[in-house]
Amino acid sequence: MVASTVLVTGAGGFIGGQIVADLRQRGEPNLRAVDLKPIEEWYQCFDDVDNRQLDLRLRSPCMDVCEGVGVVYQMACDMGGMGFIESNKALCMLNVLINTHLLEAANVCGTESFFYASSACVYRADKQRGYDVTPLKEDDVYPAMPEDGYGWEKLFSERMCRHFMEDFGMRTRVARFHNVYGPHGTWDGGREKAPAAICRKVIEAKVRGDHRIEIWGDGNQGRSFTYIDDCIEGIRRLMESSVSDPINLGSSETVSINDLVDVVEEIAGIRLERTYKLDAPKGVDGRSSDNTMIIEKLGWAPSTSLRDGIEKTYAWIFDQYTAREKGLAHKV
Ligand code: NAD
Repeated sequence: MVASTVLVTGAGGFIGGQIVADLRQRGEPNLRAVDLKPIEEWYQCFDDVDNRQLDLRLRSPCMDVCEGVGVVYQMACDMGGMGFIESNKALCMLNVLINTHLLEAANVCGTESFFYASSACVYRADKQRGYDVTPLKEDDVYPAMPEDGYGWEKLFSERMCRHFMEDFGMRTRVARFHNVYGPHGTWDGGREKAPAAICRKVIEAKVRGDHRIEIWGDGNQGRSFTYIDDCIEGIRRLMESSVSDPINLGSSETVSINDLVDVVEEIAGIRLERTYKLDAPKGVDGRSSDNTMIIEKLGWAPSTSLRDGIEKTYAWIFDQYTAREKGLAHKV
């Protein structure tokens, strides 16, 4: 019998939830969604999906959820923005348990395709020094010098995918995400990333009438931010392709953190006095995605402008924030 269930792990989180929503909308009939969090805390949850709360660091739940599964989208990960990954390196490394047990279980269960969410944090630190950003090419990984903790685990798990493909014939696909943002993601609580954190800080300043904002680092760090719809589209195209090497999935629109704050302020219709916390976690100096390979291999690249993506993200966080202030149900 052909395994027909599609499994999305980390489905209670940001990108996993959006993958489930997208697959459902495209008529995928047999969806299984798994996350460590209680189901009532998932960002998106659908009654017609087989939803399960399980800890995928353990082998036995991985074996259970892979039964009858043809395709896996592996999004489960203990992670967050720089504030989280710089001070939780051991927890980030322990994600290797999820990736190891899931790959092994998928292989034992005869799963055909396995998508793995890697990160731009695998790239060499010495290619990301200085504010004059040179976009990162897929080859800029070795000799290995990734982000300590989180990046090392991502790189190791990327290679596991490669060897499961070479040794066991499993069809693995690996995308290196560059700073994905959008609605239905973490915006408060310490795990949020820069776009959501800055939207929240600007909203707080506006609502409270205290027109100041604290920025981590000196604000000159260069980044590219990828809107969630582009991320989902890129995953779909990659899964349908024959590209078996890790590939960048990120916007090539490079901005500084100060530019990002400008965009959010403009959307909010407010100007804030900026202070810079120079000893806060700020990540590498400059990072952006070189999209030569994705254009060549998939004939496509992310195209949502930062302005358009942030506008939608700001509106969603504003609703979440005001709902929380009113004591209504919210999810962080
Ligand atoms: P997220 O934190 O919103 O979602 C991850 C989900 O995994 C969470 O809901 C969490 O509860 C779940 N999880 C953690 N430990 C688990 C466990 N033991 N068992 C089951 N579920 C568990 O993160 P996200 O932004 O949706 O990221 C998804 C994937 O994409 C991750 O692998 C992440 O490293 C990768 N990624 C994301 C970004 C980004 O900018 N969001 C960038 C690069 C890579």
